[in-house]
Amino acid sequence: MRKKLMAGNWKMNKLISELSLFFNDFAKDLKLQKGSKIENVDIVFAVPFLQLAEAKKLAEPYGFEIAAQNVHFEPSGAFTGEISIGMLKEIGIMKTLVGHSERRQFFGETDESVAKKVSVCLKSGITPIACVGETKEERVSGKTENVLTAQMMAIMNMIDNPTGLVIAYEPVWAIGTGLTATDDQAAEAHRFIRKLIRDKYGSLADELRILYGGSAKPSNIAGLLSKQDIDGGLVGGASLAPSDFASMVRSAM
Ligand code: PEP
Repeated sequence: MRKKLMAGNWKMNKLISELSLFFNDFAKDLKLQKGSKIENVDIVFAVPFLQLAEAKKLAEPYGFEIAAQNVHFEPSGAFTGEISIGMLKEIGIMKTLVGHSERRQFFGETDESVAKKVSVCLKSGITPIACVGETKEERVSGKTENVLTAQMMAIMNMIDNPTGLVIAYEPVWAIGTGLTATDDQAAEAHRFIRKLIRDKYGSLADELRILYGGSAKPSNIAGLLSKQDIDGGLVGGASLAPSDFASMVRSAM
């Protein structure tokens, strides 16, 4: 039985000075006291690098985990502006997004760099939440499965054991656009991704969590989560409002 995972992706939003109010309101909405924890859903927030340490301090008492939004695959060196796995681990950050479509679109991430990052994360005991998904043009021209296959194969060709890997299926056309994949479109893509994983790793595929991301919100999350292969959500815009994200977490509980 896969435990649901609800992850917020704050992108380049929220100041350190806004964190305390957010986590207090979010916990209050979920009726959580410090020291208590929601047992059947993992709750993760992927926050900007500068916010990681303070967010971790404020979120951990309620059992929420903090993740980075990116990491470099090299352990150190001349990579101005980048952050290493060792740097994340030093402050106790054990999860990170990898290959978000905005990183691919605006910052030159490729299937190859994403695969390298996933591989070093897994070897270092960091959970990568690896994002895959097709653009509007790719979907319209019937290439969704080809794109997902290329993105997943790049990753899978670099890892012997996928244990710990989390995949986020995020159709690019649905991210931040207000357009959501229908429950059936999302379910079909998730089933396809799990089949790709099963073809390579057998029954381990049934243990990996595949999240849906793309304009998920309180009004559509329950339908998405009712699908067999959808194990949670990666939520951008709606994770910025404590009451919206709390409502989505309740749908997953
Ligand atoms: C995301 O950033 O991963 C995302 C899915 O954004 P949104 O929910 O705003 O579409």
